[in-house]
Amino acid sequence: MLSRDDVFDELGIGPVWRLREISAAPLTAHRSPFTSWDTLADAVAHCTACKLHTTRTRGVLGVGDRTADWLIIGEAPGADEDAQGEPFVGQAGKLLDAMLAAIDLQRGNNVYIANLLKSRPPGNRNPEPDEIAACRPYLLAQIELIQPKLILALGRFAAQSLLDTDEAVGRLRGRVHQFHKVPLVVTYHPAYLLRNLPDKARAWEDLCLARRTMQTL
Ligand code: URA
Repeated sequence: MLSRDDVFDELGIGPVWRLREISAAPLTAHRSPFTSWDTLADAVAHCTACKLHTTRTRGVLGVGDRTADWLIIGEAPGADEDAQGEPFVGQAGKLLDAMLAAIDLQRGNNVYIANLLKSRPPGNRNPEPDEIAACRPYLLAQIELIQPKLILALGRFAAQSLLDTDEAVGRLRGRVHQFHKVPLVVTYHPAYLLRNLPDKARAWEDLCLARRTMQTL
């Protein structure tokens, strides 16, 4: 199986885009291969970097305010997102909108919503490591273009991949991490919360932590 670095080599992406080595550096100190939203959107639309391009309907780049203070990062498009080309438009998306409303935020208004993967894994299976690695340059480019003040990572895959850790969400939530000097708060994925209602109270605490953190920035 290809390692993450093999995938970067295949994509011609230099070492500054390899996360572990640069996780402490501000992202703006590095140069994304995608210098504008147009080049990024075009690259995602035509991407064949992983096997998901053979089964997806379309690449789903993200939605919202491209100068937002808040960047929300989920896992991957599901069936609805794959059909409509927008992240979080299904049931989990409705809950995400409610979570945002609870802290006076609205999709598209000072909020940008993206996913770790831009292509739908078939049958909504979990993202695989080579897919996450192949898609990472797109997410990094989005972060560099948006320059958010705070990142909210939804669920295991977004949190573990961004923080380069195997720790469970339950252990990562409740504190403020840094991703390239951008404060990052972890909370449960809305799809998980739909199945685990008692954890909604913890998600509410996480949202309050994120809002309090934002107020200090
Ligand atoms: N779940 C995600 O993580 N992202 C979406 O866009 C939809 C569901």
